[in-house]
Formats: sequence, C-alpha cells, structure tokens
Amino acid sequence: RVLVGTKVDESHANWVTAYNMLTGIRVSVSRTNAKLDRELTDADFEAKQKSTFDITGNELVPSAKYDFKFKDYAPWVFRRLRALFRLDPADYLMSLTGKYILSELGSPGKSGSFFYFSRDYKYIIKTIHHAEHKFLRKVLKDYYTHVQENPNTLLSQFYGLHRVKMPYGKKIHFVVMNNLFPPHRDIHTTFDLKGSTVGRNYREEDLENNPRATLKDLNWLRRQRNLELGIQKKRLFLEQLQKDVALLKRLQIMDYSLLVGIHDLSRGNDENLRDKTLRVFNPGGDKSAEEEPQPNLYRTPSKMETARKARELRQMIRQERPIPIGQAIDKMPDELGESHSRPGFVFNQDDGGFQATHENNAPADEIYYLGVIDCLTHYGVIKKIEHFWKGLSNDRTQISALPPDQYGDRFYNFVEGVTMSHEEAQREALRRDRE
Ligand code: ATP
Ligand code: CA
Ligand code: CA
Repeated sequence: RVLVGTKVDESHANWVTAYNMLTGIRVSVSRTNAKLDRELTDADFEAKQKSTFDITGNELVPSAKYDFKFKDYAPWVFRRLRALFRLDPADYLMSLTGKYILSELGSPGKSGSFFYFSRDYKYIIKTIHHAEHKFLRKVLKDYYTHVQENPNTLLSQFYGLHRVKMPYGKKIHFVVMNNLFPPHRDIHTTFDLKGSTVGRNYREEDLENNPRATLKDLNWLRRQRNLELGIQKKRLFLEQLQKDVALLKRLQIMDYSLLVGIHDLSRGNDENLRDKTLRVFNPGGDKSAEEEPQPNLYRTPSKMETARKARELRQMIRQERPIPIGQAIDKMPDELGESHSRPGFVFNQDDGGFQATHENNAPADEIYYLGVIDCLTHYGVIKKIEHFWKGLSNDRTQISALPPDQYGDRFYNFVEGVTMSHEEAQREALRRDRE
C-alpha cells in the first residue's frame, strides 16, 4: 500500500495536535452541516465559533481525549464553498475521520508551514501564519465570489479555516484544501513555477536521492519542457488562469506558483519506485528518507463494510450526534470509487487531471495536474522590504518578491510561454530571428 509522508500515529511528535485538529474539524463541520441550508449573510464572513474540548464534554461539545480549544472560522461560508466544489459532506468527514488518518510532510517550504494529508490523500491540511490567516479572512468574500463565478478556478480550493490551541501551547492556524495530486496515480515529475529565475533551481544532481523532488523554473527551462494542450484546452486553461491572476493582482497577492504534476502514461504506476520513495515524498527535497519501511498496519475494509459505515456516518451527521474518533472509516484510495475524475470540472476531467493533447487534437501520453498554490501572501511591508534588499543585489524584475501587478504579469507571461507547443516555439523563434 502506498504511503506518502510520515504516518502520524500515537508515537508521532505531532499526534496530539493532529488529533485535535481532526476532532475539531469533525465536530464543527458536522455541527454546521446538520443545519438546514440557508442563504449567506455578510455576518457569515466574519463569524467564528469557539469550542472548548475536554475529557468530560458537555451538551454542545462531545468529550475528547485531550483538552484543547478550537475555533471554526466562517463555518457557513466554507460549507457553501465545499458545496460549490461539489464535495459530499459525509465524504469530506469520512476522509478527515479515523485513527491513523494523517501523514505528515513536515515542512516542505521555507515558510515553516506543516502539511498533512488525509488518509485517502484527497485533502491537505496546511498550517498557516497568523498574517495569512488574517488575510484569508479579509479577502474571503472576494474569494467566495470568485469561486461562484469561476467554478473551474485554478486557485487552491479552501474547504475550511480553523485554529487549535492546546493548554500552554501556541495558537495554530490551518486551512483544509484540495490535494492537487491524485491518490491513485504516480506523479513522475513535479514543478513549482513562479516565472522568476533567481533562486529557482533544484540541483539536478540531487534528483538521484530524491527522484520526486519538486523542480523549479530553471529546471523547466533547462529541460525545454512545455505543457502540450492543443488549441482548445490551451485556451480554456489560459482564460481561466488570466481571471485567477486578475483576482490575485487585485487582492495584492504575490509569491504564488503554478504547481504542475505530470503523470507519464507510458510509465504508468511504477510500484517499485512507489515503495521506495513515495513513503517519504517531500516536495522541498531538503530532508531525505528517514523512515524504515513498516509493515502494513491497515486492513482494507470490504466495499460493503465501507458502504455500511458511510451510511452510519451520514446518519450521525444528520442527527448531529458526536462521531467517535474510533469510528474510522478506513477508505483507501482504491475504494474511493473507480473514477477519479470530478465530473463538471474542466481541469479534472481526465482521471482527475487534464490530459495532454497534441496540436492536431490527438491525445498525448501525459496527464497534467495543475493548480495555483500558496496564494495567501499579501504584498505588505515585509515583502516590500524584501523587494528592496534583494533588488540591490539582483535584477529587480527577476527576484520573486515583486509588487503584485508585476508579479502577476510575469507569472502569467511565463505560464503562457509554458503552454507553447514545440511547433509554436519554433515559429516564434524564427519570427524573432527575422526581426
Ligand atoms: P514557501 O512560502 O516557502 O514557498 P509554503 O510552506 O508556503 O512554502 P507551499 O508553497 O504552499 O509551501 O507548498 C510547498 C510544496 O508543497 C509545493 O511546492 C508542493 O510540492 C506541495 N503542495 C502545496 N500545496 C499543494 C497542493 N494543494 N497539492 C499538492 N501539493 C501541494
Ligand atoms: Ca510557495
Ligand atoms: Ca508561502
């Protein structure tokens, strides 16, 4: 069985935090979803609901293993967002319920955020900084409206915004969002593209030890890669990207990137590689494998069993009954249904992704998994200072800390270039030659 990341079980340093995050999500999401749906009001965007968990519990909050406080932000807005993204409420809870449900990626980026996958790898929990948290709340209405108007947005899909606080611990803010990559397919190559070149290189020599590392802009250029989308898909993709970038510019956001996962159909799922490297997949590639292969602790439940548990869980949600954490619905990727495509979503239409297409419209041998991630960095004081200092030693247009308008334009232009077919690139090169 494939395991990505380090499994978070009772012996894991962050077990209590993870356990509390999930308990809080479960209780607050089932609480909101148990109520009759209604229209959103302005107050819903500002709303927050606090719960205090302890081992005894009370009529509002079920008992929990540990003492902690939990805050659920804008619960009704996120309920609506989950509906817009067509998540089934019971399914969402099942994915985030269970005993050994999370695996931790540690902190892959420079920001110090932690990433956790739900057991079925559909969802990612990312811890975020207080500034990002405040910013998301501030722009939540714009984001919501954008999602309403752009069901196919490439921006990260936010499903929940929460906070946990343990006694004597610090406040931990986190979001729940979509995992862009599918649970059932190997991603053979990953790129994180910003359209800048300063510091945007992953040392190719290090790939040997970490074949799943996330590559960057310079690796992309060096490999003369492109996204082969054909005329129609390319238009759909660029049109959506343009709208998404327009929003990011308007909200003064920068530092985001296009995450590109490539599944090579001719290679398929390489079970061997899976076993050796996927366990400790880490996109930053800074940490190397440290976990010994472990015996499989999971028993795969039968289809009937899964269906029965799902029915029970739905009923509990309807009746607003507390769901014990032991009520793990151990869904494994294979039991999530045969098809992973999300009907109705353009960029997930081909087995959860977007299949490469030649200029003549014939399907090509790759599936792309695409999205714009890390889009909660507001161009505030800190970034302005970074821009100033980095600008002293580098070409100002190439550093990543750039004012939002310039950042957005450079980003869009780069991605547009990335979608050029080889034929187009040749024609373009010839044209420039002649000029
Ligand atoms: P930094 O600010 O230093 O860039 P960060 O902690 O904000 O880092 P992100 O840029 O959000 O982190 O993500 C880091 C890596 O985690 C990405 O390059 C990607 O490999 C992986 N990742 C992030 N979000 C997703 C997602 N939604 N789906 C799949 N992988 C993701
Ligand atoms: Ca990033
Ligand atoms: Ca970041």
